Amino acid sequence: MPKVSILGTDYEVQFSSAWDDELLNSNSSSGYTDYTIKLIKVCSDYAKDYMNLADLDIHTRNTIRHEIIHAFFYESGLSEICQNEEIVEWIALQMPKILLTCKVAEELYDAQKENTRYGVQMQPEAEQTSKGKARKAVPSNECY
Ligand SMILES: [Zn+2]
Repeated sequence: MPKVSILGTDYEVQFSSAWDDELLNSNSSSGYTDYTIKLIKVCSDYAKDYMNLADLDIHTRNTIRHEIIHAFFYESGLSEICQNEEIVEWIALQMPKILLTCKVAEELYDAQKENTRYGVQMQPEAEQTSKGKARKAVPSNECY
């Protein structure tokens, strides 16, 4: 069975239909995490009109993130936050956007580092000379 590491603890990840899993069926749930047996269960087979959602793949991927976040909080010893569905769902929904923003910011940092390495720091368009004449700025070789 496929497993994921949650802070060093392996959790089995199972996908099934609501009809094949009593807990998914009885709770009309999209997923659940059983910390006692280290199991994350995600519904991957819905009725076509489930919650009137047009894209159940997006819903399933969000459910995977949601259950993983529950497990991360639990394995961190944050059992109160672990049970806070609002916080868990907020992280599950925002995580892809946060990761994308971090990636873009790190790429900007990498580009800045690369430019600094080759001495391509830019200075202001023009600087005033001591005689009051403007001269054109040139790239600087100075490092911070
Ligand atoms: Zn939850």
